[in-house]
Amino acid sequence: MNRMRTAGIIACGAVIGFLAAHWVDGGGQKTHAQGGQPARRSPTRALADRDMYFPGTEDLRRDEMRITALGTGMPSARPKQAAACFLVELGNGDKFLFDIGSGSHERIAAQKIPYDYLDKVFIGHLHVDHYGDLASFWLGGTTMNRLTPLRVWGPSGSTTEYGTQYALDRMKEMYVWDIGTRAGVIDFRGGELEVHEFPFDGVNRIIYNENGVVIRSIPAVHGLDGAVSFILEWKGMTFVYGSDTIPNKWYIEYAKGADLAIHECFLPPPLLVTKQGFAPLEALNVGTQGHTSPEQFGKVMSLVRPRMAVGYHFFNDFDIQPDVMRRVRKTYDGPLTLAVDYMVWNVTKDDIRVRMVAKDEEVWPSPPLKKKNPPDLSKSIPISDFTMSGVLAFPEVVQPLYDEINELYGTNYEPRFKE
Ligand SMILES: [Zn+2]
Ligand SMILES: [Zn+2]
Repeated sequence: MNRMRTAGIIACGAVIGFLAAHWVDGGGQKTHAQGGQPARRSPTRALADRDMYFPGTEDLRRDEMRITALGTGMPSARPKQAAACFLVELGNGDKFLFDIGSGSHERIAAQKIPYDYLDKVFIGHLHVDHYGDLASFWLGGTTMNRLTPLRVWGPSGSTTEYGTQYALDRMKEMYVWDIGTRAGVIDFRGGELEVHEFPFDGVNRIIYNENGVVIRSIPAVHGLDGAVSFILEWKGMTFVYGSDTIPNKWYIEYAKGADLAIHECFLPPPLLVTKQGFAPLEALNVGTQGHTSPEQFGKVMSLVRPRMAVGYHFFNDFDIQPDVMRRVRKTYDGPLTLAVDYMVWNVTKDDIRVRMVAKDEEVWPSPPLKKKNPPDLSKSIPISDFTMSGVLAFPEVVQPLYDEINELYGTNYEPRFKE
């Protein structure tokens, strides 16, 4: 029997705060407190379970998945919710990013994972709210100690220029200046980009198969040709990520019975009018024919029957969430999470636990996994005599900095600008 634990709020029935009670709903399932006993609380002893996830402090079991919401919002930016991004971590050490929407990079960084582990990104479609932070993650990642090439999977389009390869080739061109400043100055192996474009119309086609992990793509219906959903299978468990789509036959057929199924659940059309300023016809077009309304989301999940349904892609506020929940519940009565950023699910075959991440806003880059090489000076791009003529070398302050480092590390470096 499926079991589900939450942050303890549903289990004990107390109104403790604003956490999971609003966002996690067990449907008809029974919930229970962890271990069956209330945690001992004492002013002098640490709690046995803090009911939060502190990044970098929990090893996964060999048969456990951890999924973290790092972007659940919209193209219109807000501090509370970045645009689409979900991190999947497996007990075998593998990590995958599904979409990397605008604003999500800082949330990825807050997970305190060395960037060499974060080398696999799967993009469901090329809307900015689903890959807007890719460039920041790719090039910014080289300053976060990534020394491994970044691998990106994404769909083709109806013609070459609507495909992922075309988009990322242009992204490389767009950042030629940025790359020029780093190559020849730092170890830039992490600046390599490996693009894997696959056909958008593949139905349950394998696009990744390594280390016991299989990822398949199915078509989605959203925007243009070239939108897909992903299905990850590992150790008999299935994770499904919808990216954006209106209800479609492929999702219902291939997500069926998934352990955790994510699907967009857009703002209801009346709220698109009142909160977002849409005209009524725009609201209906966008909210039901281009995206999936809460009622449609519930219909999809009532057919998929996952162990945990996850809805995202709306501004999930205290005054919005009850209406979205009410509408989903018209058509679906199973386990449900309406996601916000920094929500985390631990999934095993017999348990799904939902908590929030405790985020450290003062996060620093994690150390590299590999030894850094000296920069390849042959990649340095010359600077003109004109720009060089503006340099004020200030040797009286710079030389002591070189002396300090040389003394600390037994080196003999000299400043490039001397006078
Ligand atoms: Zn989209
Ligand atoms: Zn979207």
